[in-house]
Amino acid sequence: MTSTSTSSPHQFPEGSDAFPHRHLLGIAGLQPWEILYLLKEAEQWVDLNKKSSKHADRLDGLTVINAFFENSTRTLLSFEIAGKRMGADVVNMHAAQSSVKKGETLIDTAVTLNSMKADAIVIRHASSGAVQLIADKVDCPVLNAGDGRHEHPTQALLDALTIQRRKGDISGLTITICGDVMHSRVARSNIYCLTTLGAKVRVCAPPSLLPDALDRMNVESFTNFDDALAGSDVVMMLRLQSERMSGDFIPSPREYHYLYGLTKERLKNAKPDALIMHPGPMNRGVEIDSEVADDLERSAITEQVEMGVAVRMACLDILTRKSRGVEGWS
Ligand code: ASP
Repeated sequence: MTSTSTSSPHQFPEGSDAFPHRHLLGIAGLQPWEILYLLKEAEQWVDLNKKSSKHADRLDGLTVINAFFENSTRTLLSFEIAGKRMGADVVNMHAAQSSVKKGETLIDTAVTLNSMKADAIVIRHASSGAVQLIADKVDCPVLNAGDGRHEHPTQALLDALTIQRRKGDISGLTITICGDVMHSRVARSNIYCLTTLGAKVRVCAPPSLLPDALDRMNVESFTNFDDALAGSDVVMMLRLQSERMSGDFIPSPREYHYLYGLTKERLKNAKPDALIMHPGPMNRGVEIDSEVADDLERSAITEQVEMGVAVRMACLDILTRKSRGVEGWS
């Protein structure tokens, strides 16, 4: 398929041509139909996850290792639930309790994980590029659960699924991402994902938190939040990533909230039915007010978490098809 059209119904290439990748390290470089194929596959798991019995046996007998070298709540739990619901044996490795703390190199850790014959490894690491390094050393598919400020592909996919289910076709939507764009892997993966699917993406931040690389990313940059919000269909808020900041990027959280916090009043600048999103964890009263985050009609924040499990089930399924000998997935 060569068309970049995202209009429904979608036609996908046969078998592994629909997603011909060994790993999921990032969204950059994926074709629109590859992203849409992942989203389509996730839909069946959204349905399963709503049932009282949530078991599928697709990954029966497989071992999935979640190797998290950085803290996580949603992503770790949701990868664990995804693997278990698909029937895999899921093992979580927390860096704080591992030999990493004893000085083991990343490569040695990768070789160790590989020797345990995992069928998929999910990795989160504080350094951009660390996940690629491990992927180069192991025999099984690797899924990036967030590497430094680089990428967080399953977050972008779950965000796209949430938007698509609420708003229909993503192509043509105006989507504003506001916050610490500079240090955010969520922003980067979402920019790649949403622009590839044909959305008009706006990013908004104080000048100190807008990276130069945006010039090459097919987005419109704003420093005035009210201007960025005008006519937006979706508003995605980001946390200040203080763990990745060296020095002061904002005068104070209070001033930041005054200029860039999403309040009920400020939201009036967006379209009346604009969807509110946040990848979590939220800093209430800083980048977003509770009144907005907890607005049952407009906020999709809990739905994002729900979609996260389905998307991760789809990713684990698709990436292990080759090793499971699924027909057409050579
Ligand atoms: N949970 C997201 C991440 O891991 C966003 C955040 O931490 O602010 O990047």
